[in-house]
Amino acid sequence: MVVSHGHSDHVNGVPVLCRRLRVPVYANRATAAETGLHGAVGPELSLCFEAGCDFEVGSIRLTSFPVPHDSADPSGFVISDGAVKVGFATDLGSLTLEVLDSLADCDALILESNHDEVMLREGPYPAMLKKRVKGPRGHLSNDDAAELLQSVAHPGLRQLVLAHLSTTNNKPELPLQTAGKALAGRAPSVEISLGWQDRPGLVIRVG
Ligand SMILES: [Zn+2]
Ligand SMILES: [Zn+2]
Repeated sequence: MVVSHGHSDHVNGVPVLCRRLRVPVYANRATAAETGLHGAVGPELSLCFEAGCDFEVGSIRLTSFPVPHDSADPSGFVISDGAVKVGFATDLGSLTLEVLDSLADCDALILESNHDEVMLREGPYPAMLKKRVKGPRGHLSNDDAAELLQSVAHPGLRQLVLAHLSTTNNKPELPLQTAGKALAGRAPSVEISLGWQDRPGLVIRVG
């Protein structure tokens, strides 16, 4: 199991899951320190990766890259078995050159499409939380995700999972429509699916 950053929606279930399944957890040093994760999991299942570096989990190579988000040292990942490349980026508030470079040429992308900007603006969140979510270290809107896709999409992109959807400030059809428009003519064979908060998404096959 690999932890991208220390927020509770990503970490809370990790110690129980690791101990029950007897799988190790990988976190960078800042995330481990911020969360106390390694203490909760125990030393035999605790592994560190260096932020911004490559590391291996079995036969899979992961490359971490920094993302702009309001936690200690948040990461996105490029995951590859040598034949297929998968990009993963959720929990980022803005698009940096490093993010765009890292997610180029992927066969599959798992990408945040957190909120609809109008629903967030007019919705029930308190003003401080609205400001945080839409800020440069908050979360990508559907339109932000579309901008990212316009930059990194290519004809070899086969799978796109739109993830980290807000249940309050988004509707499933909105990210699908926005991403579909952004990809039109750029990635003709891509399949788009959604990642959910309360149930597993589709099993996708790449390669
Ligand atoms: Zn999150
Ligand atoms: Zn977060």
